[in-house]
Amino acid sequence: MDDQQLLTGWGRTAASLATVKSVGVEQLAELDVGARGAIARGLGRAYGDPAQNGGGIVIRIKPSANPVWIDSRAGTATVDAGVSFDELLRRIVPHGFFVPVTPGTRFITVGGAIASDVHGKGHHTDLTFGHHVRSLDIVLADGTEHTVGPTAEPDLFWATVGGMGLTGVITRATFDLLRIETNRCLVETQRLADLDALIAAMSDGDADHRYSVAWIDLATKGPTLGRSILERGDHATLDDLAEYAPKALRDPLGFAPGSLASVPPVPNVMSRLAVRTFNELWFRKAPKQHLGTQTLTGFFHPLDAIGDWNRFYGARGFLQYQFVVPFEAADTLREIVERVVANGNASVISVLKRFGAESGGLLSFPKPGWTLTFDVAAGVPGLGSFLAELDQLVVGAGGRHYLAKDAHTTPDIIRAGYPRLDDWKTIRRSVDPHGRWASDQARRLDLL
Ligand SMILES: Cc1cc2nc3c(=O)[nH]c(=O)nc-3n(C[C@H](O)[C@H](O)[C@H](O)COP(=O)(O)OP(=O)(O)OC[C@H]3O[C@@H](n4cnc5c(N)ncnc54)[C@H](O)[C@@H]3O)c2cc1C
Repeated sequence: MDDQQLLTGWGRTAASLATVKSVGVEQLAELDVGARGAIARGLGRAYGDPAQNGGGIVIRIKPSANPVWIDSRAGTATVDAGVSFDELLRRIVPHGFFVPVTPGTRFITVGGAIASDVHGKGHHTDLTFGHHVRSLDIVLADGTEHTVGPTAEPDLFWATVGGMGLTGVITRATFDLLRIETNRCLVETQRLADLDALIAAMSDGDADHRYSVAWIDLATKGPTLGRSILERGDHATLDDLAEYAPKALRDPLGFAPGSLASVPPVPNVMSRLAVRTFNELWFRKAPKQHLGTQTLTGFFHPLDAIGDWNRFYGARGFLQYQFVVPFEAADTLREIVERVVANGNASVISVLKRFGAESGGLLSFPKPGWTLTFDVAAGVPGLGSFLAELDQLVVGAGGRHYLAKDAHTTPDIIRAGYPRLDDWKTIRRSVDPHGRWASDQARRLDLL
């Protein structure tokens, strides 16, 4: 069925009107996409405009008769690209499996996870989602369906992993699962007084844990600049449950996250005072040092407990700024933290993480270094020029920005951050010479 819809990403900025078509895989080859082309859309959790196509077609793929197939012996899943991590986890956790990589929300699709080559708290050990994909099926611009992987048409595979939907429509994928004993993680929480203490703690201890991430306060300056709460964990074993959460042994693999409380539309953006107060309370409530278990959802997807939390930022929406700079550029990281704090517009959710090795994906975002993520309300006076200054610092230090989060950068900034961009374009043009696949982001960043 066709439907004209005004679409945005999760940040709710830069809406554009497209014809949304719900299409079965067998119809993809015949689909008339007109002059503006078409782009696949998952659950719209990318923050900016990669899953929009103003004036053109946006594709939602209909599920097949058998959307999820688990091979327990091989420890793999073969899944329709439109299946969400939420659905998948409900199927696999009770059988002792977890996804190899999960971002901070389970409301994303497998197709979106591959197209953005998502990372999670375990990037320093597990790398990106694409690293665990054994093969994927993709419908190309000429209507042919190809099964590609790290050894079958590897160039097309690595252009598709992280390729933001611009090489074709992914219809199905097979990937490795992670075996788990329980539905909890054993998590060590540590409060750290400042940025130096955080950098030292993460550099020393991350390798001892599968997962590591720090919540960083970007509203405090002076001696407490960069004060943080560091959380590091591993999947809890049955022995861990016996020691730390014996009641959980009654149903060690149960997984049934509750329904969401929703945020009503909010007219105004949170004030700076509210942000500072929230951060102060958040920091004080964290224990100085604590070891205990957390549920999978509590540890990996805490924001999913609140539906539509993106409405907190008022009618104009918000941007999520995420960059990575190499480890040698810790001074640039510090300078950006100082500037963001001085600017005073960052919101409550700011996260610092150490990335591991680069993926084979030509446009994949992670590479070894520090990645910082913060939210900022859209429409704040001077925001564009402030972010443009940060952009220069990031690429000047050899860093780059995450396409799945981006809503403001320019073609020059992306080109500077992604040295394999021309190789990617060459592969893309070889499979889509007439621009059948296109998105608002692709036009904005000159990716076509
Ligand atoms: C609360 C929150 C936390 C997040 N945390 C993280 C995180 O920790 N790490 C991280 O890496 N990301 C994170 N993200 C970003 C999110 O994981 C990615 O944007 C992901 O791509 C969203 O998936 P989606 O299914 O919603 O795709 P959409 O947002 O709908 O689309 C994203 C891209 O995928 C493409 N795409 C979707 N389906 C297909 C398909 N079948 N074939 C081809 N291309 C397709 C689209 O064309 C588009 O380019 C977070 C987002 C939110 C809202």
